[in-house]
Amino acid sequence: MDGIFRRIIFERKALNYPIARNILSKAENEGIEIKYSETGRITGIPGKDDADAFFEGKNTLVVGARSELEFQSCKPSAHYQLPLVSGCAAMCEYCYLNTRGGKKPYVKVNVNIDEILNRAGQYIEERKPEITIFEGAATSDPVLVEGYSGALKSAIEYFAKSEYGRFRFVTKYADINKLCSLQHNNHTTIRFSINTERVIKSYEHRTSNLKDRIDAAYSLLNSGYKVGFIIGPVFLHENWRDEYKELLKKTSDKFQDKEIEFEIISHRFTVSAKNKILKVFPNTTLPMEVQTRKFKFGQFGYGKYIYNNNEMDEIKEFFINNINLYFNKSIIKYII
Ligand code: SF4
Repeated sequence: MDGIFRRIIFERKALNYPIARNILSKAENEGIEIKYSETGRITGIPGKDDADAFFEGKNTLVVGARSELEFQSCKPSAHYQLPLVSGCAAMCEYCYLNTRGGKKPYVKVNVNIDEILNRAGQYIEERKPEITIFEGAATSDPVLVEGYSGALKSAIEYFAKSEYGRFRFVTKYADINKLCSLQHNNHTTIRFSINTERVIKSYEHRTSNLKDRIDAAYSLLNSGYKVGFIIGPVFLHENWRDEYKELLKKTSDKFQDKEIEFEIISHRFTVSAKNKILKVFPNTTLPMEVQTRKFKFGQFGYGKYIYNNNEMDEIKEFFINNINLYFNKSIIKYII
């Protein structure tokens, strides 16, 4: 095991699956704290204040078996979320999951992988001959826990055989060597989330560094996978143009002539996210002054603060010009 988690909580029903029993025996050998949940309710994670509860949650792995097999939709990047993993042990200060995982945001791997993939097969059947795309990272970074459940391996191999199903996920982790040798049949797209050195160092705690992410993307490309980059969140720090130019230049060293998809996402935040971030990271330097931003109503009834129209135009112009300058075969999927 990789030493990230301080404790592992097993849902009792998950122990009916060999993957869970395997994780249990490794955890016993390594002396990791083990707890059990008889009902699926997760208790027993310590936390003396908001910040402590948050970090203890991040250090907790739950091994479960998902009984709810209706998948959430996942627009615009895919048709459905594939619920293999939820939560993330990384600690990006700006993370969109920060307001979703409760006070103790544990990571959960679902070990009934075959049932989940069979359910995906039913969705594919319903939509065929249309292609159905499943997103494996809608509520997590699944690479970080791949060593526990092997969920990505199973999914990649499953979709390799699927005529009408496709799989995609995004990560900030370079630990992908085991995925390179899999039979993927070009049905899986793996995107790396990248950012400037300053953003990674300041805000993306417990993730792989930029060079390792770029090298990992290159290895996957050489193994025949479709590869993309998500640049986000884009921050308009002083010198942002120079720093993002540097990022694109560095990335283009290896990918200049490759067919690469880009997704560009500007920084945004909600009031509840800001409040949560300030409790957990009281010294954060994330730019979250509402008076400098434009308020936009979100689709779920809450509003978010985004960069204003002029700034968004600058971001769009900058990335279109520079991606076209440094990459010969790039596809910009969207800039938001
Ligand atoms: S790696 Fe992604 S999911 Fe994990 S904390 Fe960072 S932004 Fe959130």
